[in-house]
Amino acid sequence: MQALTNRAKPVDRRPMTFVERMYLPAIAKGMAITFKHIFQKKEVVSYPEQKREFSPVFRGLHVLNRDAEGRENCTACGLCAVSCPAEAITMEGAERKPGEEHLYREEKYAARYEINMLRCIFCGFCEEACPKDAIYLTETFAPSNYKRESFIYGKEDLLIPMPGEKKKA
Ligand code: SF4
Ligand code: SF4
Repeated sequence: MQALTNRAKPVDRRPMTFVERMYLPAIAKGMAITFKHIFQKKEVVSYPEQKREFSPVFRGLHVLNRDAEGRENCTACGLCAVSCPAEAITMEGAERKPGEEHLYREEKYAARYEINMLRCIFCGFCEEACPKDAIYLTETFAPSNYKRESFIYGKEDLLIPMPGEKKKA
């Protein structure tokens, strides 16, 4: 079969010479490469002591935003979920009751809002689709975990704290 590129290298099937069978030249060559790399710039980062700089266009974990008065911006319109190519977002809407005007900006709000971070591909489409400035992707990333269910982030994980309130650990 004809090769599509000229990158293929034919395998050398000649019997090994006496010097090759001693392996010493190959060991010396390998050690030379190892020593050469000792004095070269390290390409690894000792995380978590050292952290790499993020690209200016990095997209990480989501947050649900509040307005200047601390009310939730999200109106559970579902546009973020519809635009999500990974189908990572689920939500349940609810009607705002009298007396809850200080909690929710509009008549409808997301009683439940979840993002499955294992499905999310951090494309940012949800942020672009949101007409209420309610969802943003930040520069932090999901910490590692042993349980799959820990990667389903609920509203309590995503919503930014009320002004003066600390986020739960
Ligand atoms: S960043 Fe992309 S994949 Fe992740 S939840 Fe938003 S739209 Fe879905
Ligand atoms: S985050 Fe934005 S797009 Fe998604 S449901 Fe809430 S208001 Fe609609």
